[in-house]
Amino acid sequence: MMPLRRFDIHQPSSAREAAEMLARFGEDGILYGGGTELLLAMKHDVLRYRHLVDVKVIPGADSIDLIGAVLRIGATATHRSIERSELVRAHLPVFARMESRVANVRVRSTGTLGGNLCFAEPHSDPATLLLALGATVVAEGADGRREIPVSELIAGAYETSLRHDEVLTEVHIPVTGPERRASYVKFSAHERPLLGLALVLDTPDGGETFTGARVAVGCVSPFPCRHEDSEGLLRGARSEVEQRLPETAEALADAAELVDDHEGSADFKRHLIAVFLKRAFLTAVRGEDAA
Ligand SMILES: Cc1cc2nc3c(=O)[nH]c(=O)nc-3n(C[C@H](O)[C@H](O)[C@H](O)COP(=O)(O)OP(=O)(O)OC[C@H]3O[C@@H](n4cnc5c(N)ncnc54)[C@H](O)[C@@H]3O)c2cc1C
Repeated sequence: MMPLRRFDIHQPSSAREAAEMLARFGEDGILYGGGTELLLAMKHDVLRYRHLVDVKVIPGADSIDLIGAVLRIGATATHRSIERSELVRAHLPVFARMESRVANVRVRSTGTLGGNLCFAEPHSDPATLLLALGATVVAEGADGRREIPVSELIAGAYETSLRHDEVLTEVHIPVTGPERRASYVKFSAHERPLLGLALVLDTPDGGETFTGARVAVGCVSPFPCRHEDSEGLLRGARSEVEQRLPETAEALADAAELVDDHEGSADFKRHLIAVFLKRAFLTAVRGEDAA
């Protein structure tokens, strides 16, 4: 590892000021949250920046609130603070549980949700679950703010649809009552997950019939994939849906455009999707992760 090149840290007092700093510094400036990805890349001299804009110091940028039926998580909230939040545990336990299994406690205590999403590393747990939960993010730029569905935020491996001067400020996640069951399951052989699979089922009768479904698979391709045809196979009576799980897994694997890489062959990943879809289904039906 190389010694870090010299850089300056800037501390804005609002997201708008951070965006203005980014606009001013151009290619020499970048946002900095926990630094768990950015500083590592800079130490390896893969990324070089002269100006780091520290978003963690922005007052209130890490707050977690429930507004109506939407959980609003500030972009600088750390994985650890989300995992421990009473509000998240009470209203979206599946998200708190997912966060408790990200990386290790050291990374979770420093790494932020915003940093995780904006780095767009393909092995992200939150991105896959947020896609299935139908979450949106708020981005603030030098000339205004906009809301972006998570499905449109991740544009590829290490690529988002944010403009250079945009700061991710909040993540909005809809929460619902007892008629929604959700689960997130993952498989890791090394540090980061090799597969993440999220399932959300609408069930008006406690798990006997499913009137709506959302499924997303991540980590097996450059960005998480949601597939509506697979979701169609997850609607109906429980026994029928259960019988169709192998077919659903095949459809999902086809849609995910699996590739052979150092983590395993496409066939291996296809096999994992079948195993983990069943696991996700049983977890959701039993209400173990709840929504
Ligand atoms: C050993 C290790 C294990 C890991 N295991 C997992 C795992 O199991 N599951 C998982 O999901 N992740 C895992 N990660 C990734 C981890 O979750 C991220 O490193 C962390 O969340 C990044 O947050 P950060 O605040 O440190 O980002 P930073 O390093 O500060 O920033 C990362 C990128 O995001 C940009 N950025 C930061 N904040 C914002 C913002 N508010 N708006 C716009 N852009 C922003 C930065 O400019 C930079 O490009 C692991 C990481 C490590 C080092």
